[in-house]
Amino acid sequence: MLNIVLFGPPGAGKGTQAEFLIQSFGLIHLSTGDLLRSEIAAGTKLGLEAKAFMEKGELVPDAVVIGMIKSKLEANKDAKGFIFDGFPRTVDQAKALDELLDANGTPISGMLSLEVEKQELINRLLNRGKISGRADDQDQSIIENRINVYNEKTSPLIEYYKKQNKHFGINGMGTIEEIAGRLKAVVDKL
Ligand code: AMP
Repeated sequence: MLNIVLFGPPGAGKGTQAEFLIQSFGLIHLSTGDLLRSEIAAGTKLGLEAKAFMEKGELVPDAVVIGMIKSKLEANKDAKGFIFDGFPRTVDQAKALDELLDANGTPISGMLSLEVEKQELINRLLNRGKISGRADDQDQSIIENRINVYNEKTSPLIEYYKKQNKHFGINGMGTIEEIAGRLKAVVDKL
């Protein structure tokens, strides 16, 4: 089983690159951002609760996202592996994920961390906002807040996975194909 954490700040290209990895390795894509947006679209209570955080560029509470991931893991017991995209985003989420996966005897294989300069992140998000209509990608102050939240609460996960010898830094600048090639080369060796 291949369990990959695809990591990086907002705008690093996690969603785009996850598509390539799914095709190459037959994994299931679990994006907490996508799952939350589906809940909002379906008008569920969970979606309503999450929306208020997402609109400000704040993190949705750990218990909510951990619960979503837990039910997806239970619903896909026969999977070849998973790509976790946008999850974990806090140390508590990473610990919960380790516990869930250890219970199945299928730990994280590696954390692939996309490294992209801040101005490039902002440019990519603003461009994506024009196409996707995502409100949190259209407002520079919300984007800045998401990057700050990443630096404060999410980037400590680099150390968390380094301690487990599972961290792989990947240059996330360049064309989509170049970056996909770099990721594939690492996953091939896991
Ligand atoms: P994303 O699609 O990954 O950029 O996520 C969009 C928004 O959803 C984030 O800004 C957060 O508000 C929320 N979100 C997504 N994943 C998580 C997570 N693992 N923990 C907390 N909030 C999350």
